[in-house]
Amino acid sequence: MKIGFVGLGNMGAPMAANLAKAGHRVTGFDVAGTTAEGVQSVPSAAEAAAGADVVITMLPNGDILRAVAAEVLPAMPKGATLIDCSTVDVESARAVAAQAQDAGMLCVDAPVSGGIGGAAGGTLTFMAGGSPAAFDVARPLFDIMGQKAVHCGEAGAGQAAKICNNMILGATMIATCEAFALADKLGLARDKMFDVVSTSSGYSWSMNAYCPAPGIGPQSPADNDYTPGFAAELMLKDLGLSQQAAEAVDADTPMGARALELYRQFVEDEGGKGKDFSAMLPRFTDRGRG
Ligand code: NAD
Repeated sequence: MKIGFVGLGNMGAPMAANLAKAGHRVTGFDVAGTTAEGVQSVPSAAEAAAGADVVITMLPNGDILRAVAAEVLPAMPKGATLIDCSTVDVESARAVAAQAQDAGMLCVDAPVSGGIGGAAGGTLTFMAGGSPAAFDVARPLFDIMGQKAVHCGEAGAGQAAKICNNMILGATMIATCEAFALADKLGLARDKMFDVVSTSSGYSWSMNAYCPAPGIGPQSPADNDYTPGFAAELMLKDLGLSQQAAEAVDADTPMGARALELYRQFVEDEGGKGKDFSAMLPRFTDRGRG
């Protein structure tokens, strides 16, 4: 396949390189001038899209996605497929899908989980929204860049799955961290707390697979001085997207709203920027109720 790849950042560059390594002809463009192994750099998004069977975007937000889509859709051959792997607002994903359809293209919103390690190792999980025909085109590429792809429904369903998952993740990480901080103050040893909770009804991915307490449970960013991992500012972004979506459809999400508030405070006022999102634990242990 001839693939155009727009957005060769921390995630996009290794994803594009994996497609090239698998034998696809990949042309890439990034405004920052970044490149990827095996990918031919071109000077614009439109040039990456020209003659492409598939165009993949991996961009920071919905506004940038909309601008890039407006540039690449007219340059793509009729019947080609646009796959957006960025995490963006559901509304932008649906707007771009509608534009793609009007232009005679297939479109899939396919945000990922798995982070930079998953992108490099080709072990991402894709959650996809779009028509079955569009998903069928994208699936072999998902198989190269990832280990699992779930077709979640029509346009926007991939983004909906992503923000719902990360809303749960943000809230459970905070709950796990505040419980460790309470346990500390009650004199309960952290390893005992882990032994009990990880096999009791309080267990979760945050506790069992990504424990925020250093030296407890499996290896996690806590064991590496909270170097991300999944940065707190990316969690803040995703919690913002989930609240934006909740407001748009009048969904009552008080835990998600509180998680957004706490991560905003942590990132903007409490030095959390650049740290893993599990660094909420020292944030809680360093303070009292006030
Ligand atoms: P990044 O900032 O490293 O990469 C984004 C790239 O897009 C940058 O290189 C930037 O120069 C480029 N870009 C911006 N505007 C552009 C334009 N108009 N045309 C072409 N290129 C443009 O971010 P990232 O970590 O690679 O994340 C990309 C997306 O994946 C985001 O939506 C993020 O939320 C999502 N995501 C990231 C992770 C992670 O762990 N990093 C995990 C899951 C999902």
